[in-house]
Amino acid sequence: MGKFVYLFHEGQGDMKELLGGKGANLAEMTNIGLPVPYGFTITTEACNAYYESGKAIPSVVEQQTIEALNRLEEKMEKKLGDPENPLLVSVRSGSVFSMPGMMDTILNLGMNDETVVGMAKLTNNPRFAYDSYRRFIQMFSNVVLEIDTYYFEQLLEETREQKGYSSDPELTAEDWKEVIVGYKEIVKKHTKKAFPQDPKEQLFLAINAVFNSWNNQRAIIYRRLNKIPDHLGTAVNIQSMVFGNMGNDSGTGVAFTRNPSTGESVLYGEYLINAQGEDVVAGIRTPQPIATLQEEMPEVYKQFTETCHQLEQHYQEMQDIEFTVERGKLFILQTRNGKRTAQAAIRIAVEMEQEGIIDKKTALLRVDPDQLNQLLHRRIDDSIAKEILAKGLPASPGAATGQVVFDADEAEQLASQGQKVILVRPETTPDDIHGIVTSQAIVTSRGGMTSHAAVVARGMGKACICGCEALKIDLKAKQFMVGETVVNYGEIITIDGSTGEIILGEVPMIDPELSDEFLQLLTWADEERQMNVRANADTPEDAKKSFEFGAEGIGLCRTEHMFMDSKRIPIVQEMILAENFNERKAALEQLLPMQQSDFEGIFEAMQGYPVTVRLLDPPLHEFLPNKEELLVEVTKLQILDPQSKELKEKEQLLKKVRQLDEHNPMLGLRGCRLGMMYPEIYEMQAKAIFYAAAKLVEKGMAVQPEIMIPLVGHVNELKEMRQLVIDAANHIQEETGQTVAYTIGTMIEIPRAVLTADEIAVEADFFSFGTNDLTQTTFGYSRDDAEGKFLQAYIENKVLPENPFAVLDQNGVGKLVETGVKLGRATKAKLKTGVCGEHGGEKSSVEFFYKTGLDYVSCSPYRVPLARLAAAQASIRFNKEEM
Ligand code: ADP
Ligand code: MG
Ligand code: MG
Repeated sequence: MGKFVYLFHEGQGDMKELLGGKGANLAEMTNIGLPVPYGFTITTEACNAYYESGKAIPSVVEQQTIEALNRLEEKMEKKLGDPENPLLVSVRSGSVFSMPGMMDTILNLGMNDETVVGMAKLTNNPRFAYDSYRRFIQMFSNVVLEIDTYYFEQLLEETREQKGYSSDPELTAEDWKEVIVGYKEIVKKHTKKAFPQDPKEQLFLAINAVFNSWNNQRAIIYRRLNKIPDHLGTAVNIQSMVFGNMGNDSGTGVAFTRNPSTGESVLYGEYLINAQGEDVVAGIRTPQPIATLQEEMPEVYKQFTETCHQLEQHYQEMQDIEFTVERGKLFILQTRNGKRTAQAAIRIAVEMEQEGIIDKKTALLRVDPDQLNQLLHRRIDDSIAKEILAKGLPASPGAATGQVVFDADEAEQLASQGQKVILVRPETTPDDIHGIVTSQAIVTSRGGMTSHAAVVARGMGKACICGCEALKIDLKAKQFMVGETVVNYGEIITIDGSTGEIILGEVPMIDPELSDEFLQLLTWADEERQMNVRANADTPEDAKKSFEFGAEGIGLCRTEHMFMDSKRIPIVQEMILAENFNERKAALEQLLPMQQSDFEGIFEAMQGYPVTVRLLDPPLHEFLPNKEELLVEVTKLQILDPQSKELKEKEQLLKKVRQLDEHNPMLGLRGCRLGMMYPEIYEMQAKAIFYAAAKLVEKGMAVQPEIMIPLVGHVNELKEMRQLVIDAANHIQEETGQTVAYTIGTMIEIPRAVLTADEIAVEADFFSFGTNDLTQTTFGYSRDDAEGKFLQAYIENKVLPENPFAVLDQNGVGKLVETGVKLGRATKAKLKTGVCGEHGGEKSSVEFFYKTGLDYVSCSPYRVPLARLAAAQASIRFNKEEM
């Protein structure tokens, strides 16, 4: 026969699974000698046994409960239901994880028509006794008998009005007696039964109710949202009452041992004099700040601060503590690790290390890398209420406020006058770049997380919301509608790219801050981690930012963004439209110095760290205008101005667009296939890289270019492209007389490349796993289509545990990464390997990459601090030696 009931002194802090969080901590505090009112805990296993017996308390549980109650009565020298000297208890639920939706606590259980008289006599305070009784009836009726509190509140209000009182403390004992008569009538009316007078019956009804609350709607939904298993069950804590409502020498409160918002090491909390339990949270009366307790009850305050200190030292964590003072005597009713903001988490972790409470490793594990995101972008001040107009995909974090504009030219124009604008479009194209650059943020009604707008915005660290289908954009009328709401050109909106929320008007913002503590923590992270962290950066500005955030190189520099610059687009188009090799060469000649100067800027910003430059990847049609729009223009011109030169040009363009049109661009002429068909493009890029490098070397600066060939599926592709790069390097070396050390590698983003990684490694100095494309090609999903059409449903129906584009699919895509590393290193033992997908900035994926033996992860500049911390945590959790 199992043990289903534990007296507080029989339990321990590490028995959370069995006793629930609250119960385990009450046991722990009892054992370290803190003033905890005595009691016992009915285990989570008893809860499961209750459900197994078809929602009935098994007799063994009942027996053990009665026994524990007897022990409690002996200890307290009081008896439940004894009219002379009654024991009163609270009944508190408590699961392993604290859960809103679980049963509310019942206080003062054991009160009835007889014990209330005893209490009145005993305390010499009838007012207190009757007040406690009516509180009990109200709570019990609400929580156990499920009668709406409204009826009780209404009666109380009528009574106050009748008697001309403005607040509850004015009610006398006689008044409360009257109220109690009324309360009992309410109970009778709703349950057709009298209010239960037998305290044991009250107790078991309450225990039943706690067990039942485990499966109420709210609790079930909360568990599903937070991935808490259903089988855990809840414990029930039965604890003798202490009274904060015994007069002005009594009170109740809550406090954090440190400020949960800033992390500052000062006691932070509130209390109410002459009040019981819930009153502080309920907000009926305004509580006082904890500091004034020092004046009102100096002795209690001193004892309380000492207790807080003791609890913090004991748990080695910031604590959130509930306390009650009964006639000048302090009692502790609960303690748990306090919830905190990212800023506070960092400061507390660092200061606790400095105070010698925890070591560096523990400090590093105390901060959740995901939380850091909050700190690195301007963000909306959460303390202010806001009304959300619409919600789209959170495509690029950060928040921004500005006037709504609907086209890129207008954005540029208004911005040049110093206005802040937000560009709202159905979608964006490379033609909109000048508008994107000059806008505070971008909103699109179509497109997914990898749409043009999203990719560009993330690269620039600009806030962006995509695929916000609730927006009905009317470009002609220069307005958008959300339901009935119309938002016109020039109106102010605020967007939050981390949540996808669009808000009407202005909302106060907070600037990102890299506090001293944050920098300290990151320094420790750097000491601890074994994996390098790089950034994905395409421009000198991004490279600078990456360097500032601590990137040890660039893992992915996408050259297509250099092509998309609005000044360059016409030349790029010329290059694509070229009728023959010479025309194309001429256009490329013009592009070369532009690319070169970008590379110079990037190399310089990285101060000798490696920079992986990926040669052109996207299909060429991405640089040309949209086919449908072009068709409309051509048709118009054919009618209006059939002889014009413009028509000729547009027709020419349309012809080319049609030529380049592909059934499935994702699987078409892109990546190194582009280089294979138009070697002169890759050649120009390689030359630009080597010219830039040579120039820096000439100035005495260090450079480490790593040239990366994208989308290789067969070793022969790499072999050919590698030779092309080597030729370019030799050529430039001869021309400039500067020797530049460089490497040539490939992206691994196609399953065939993984499966033949041993062959590919012969031609590669490094592998960089492009896990975005590798996820697309492994699942056979196009990300935009998947996220727009079915991925959400898959996740909701638990077909997939997570979005594989955000969190690496370790069993599938992850296995390919492992295989690729293994095969590659079978050929070259020291082959450098890294990852440059978005997963490089996601904590669980970072941990996986570490275990797989990658040399580095690369992620967006703003995620670099996150990745540094995640890599350190991975090292701490899985010490290399143990692997
Ligand atoms: P929650 O999980 O909602 O915080 P609790 O079980 O902690 O619920 O209790 C609610 C309130 O009642 C708290 O303020 C708590 O301090 C108070 N309380 C619980 N048990 C007792 C008790 N035995 N004596 C006095 N106050 C109590
Ligand atoms: Mg509590
Ligand atoms: Mg790719």
